[in-house]
Amino acid sequence: MSEQAFTYVVVGSGKAGVSAVEGIRELDAEGTILLIGDEKHLPYERPPLSKQLWFGKAKVNDIFTHDQSFYNQHGITVNLGVKVVEIDRRERKVSAANGDVYRFEKLLLATGVEPRKLPIPGGDIEEICYFRTLEDYFQIQHRAAKAKSALIIGGGFIGSELAAALSISLDEVTLIFPSTYICSRVFPEPLGQKLQGQYRARGIRILNSEMPVSISKNGSGFRVDTSAGKSVYTDIVIVGIGATPSIDLAQAAGLDTGDGIVVNEYLETSHPGIYAAGDNAFFPCPALGRQMRNEHWDNALSQGKQAGRNMAGAQEPYTYLPYFFSDIFEFGYEAVGHVSTGLEMFADWKKENETGVIYYLADNKVRGVMMCNVWDKLEAARELIRKGERVKTEQLRGMIL
Ligand SMILES: Cc1cc2nc3c(=O)[nH]c(=O)nc-3n(C[C@H](O)[C@H](O)[C@H](O)COP(=O)(O)OP(=O)(O)OC[C@H]3O[C@@H](n4cnc5c(N)ncnc54)[C@H](O)[C@@H]3O)c2cc1C
Repeated sequence: MSEQAFTYVVVGSGKAGVSAVEGIRELDAEGTILLIGDEKHLPYERPPLSKQLWFGKAKVNDIFTHDQSFYNQHGITVNLGVKVVEIDRRERKVSAANGDVYRFEKLLLATGVEPRKLPIPGGDIEEICYFRTLEDYFQIQHRAAKAKSALIIGGGFIGSELAAALSISLDEVTLIFPSTYICSRVFPEPLGQKLQGQYRARGIRILNSEMPVSISKNGSGFRVDTSAGKSVYTDIVIVGIGATPSIDLAQAAGLDTGDGIVVNEYLETSHPGIYAAGDNAFFPCPALGRQMRNEHWDNALSQGKQAGRNMAGAQEPYTYLPYFFSDIFEFGYEAVGHVSTGLEMFADWKKENETGVIYYLADNKVRGVMMCNVWDKLEAARELIRKGERVKTEQLRGMIL
């Protein structure tokens, strides 16, 4: 058990955490920094875990944000494989599970999210993979080398990406989810159905409008019973059904929480000197006029960087409108703002359900934009959202394309 003091302590060594230390160093070359995380790897990028790594477009060595020399050069102490279990905000210190104590002047909570667990019998079987980390990738890659089949539960981003990825090497891949088509929270139905058809055309079995009701071990594999009375026998089960923000530490320390750790425009929590950024932060978004949480890479990067700068004294509001991206087979997209099928949608296609721009509107104002196989138009989309003018949907035709 030891006690050390740092100017800055950053809890969570994911994208927001590493971006924060970069942000701190932009303004403060001297202050001591501790980056502490419970994963055992140096900070890495998560998006390739469900994409490039499976298609041979990236190797594991490529996904690390920096190598150890970056942290040495910038005087950043990195403690990995260490879980922080308590924050004492009055004494300005955090305690780790191994008993070590770290004092701070400024603290950032960049603790991300926890994968949501299946609330069904067998949902807690150890070999089920709730996919999120590099260790999860290693585990599935190792098992896929000997397996024939995989069942992926969840038709959102991670589930649909992993089904496409695993279909390269496995004979039988099944994707099961309760909605009628994949990524139904962001894709209009005609687009979602078209992409779903591409999964089927590649031999991926789609069980839409269906849910697993129980999971049991079956030899070295699993049997999964579904709400439609089917039984799926499979070697691998992967779950991607969303995530919940990691706010336990903040709650126990008495910080304000809602759908995440509540921060102001400077990304500072209800306690001065303690900040939050990334997937766990519930932040005010001026362009959309609401408090929100965003579980995407660009948000973690930009918010982490801004939190770091503010910890070092910048006092700049976070006004950036982050984007997100994904790709499914040959279909790639970038999206910005509030992208939800709960809003009114207008699709401006150059090529139906392939190349074009989808606008998401509320109260006749553009709140989100998805650019499908259309690139380098993010700024135009941001501008449209920021303006917040009332438009007739027909006026949007050709606006960004
Ligand atoms: C498989 C996958 C694919 C993705 N693909 C895309 C994509 O294509 N496009 C996109 O925009 N976004 C994508 N994302 C989302 C994006 O990666 C996340 O938004 C981003 O990683 C969030 O960064 P973060 O630092 O906030 O959280 P995280 O990256 O989750 O980092 C938080 C870190 O804090 C650690 N931690 C938590 N609690 C403690 C504690 N008490 N003590 C110590 N450490 C702790 C966690 O273990 C973790 O390492 C993907 C995510 C996944 C999982």
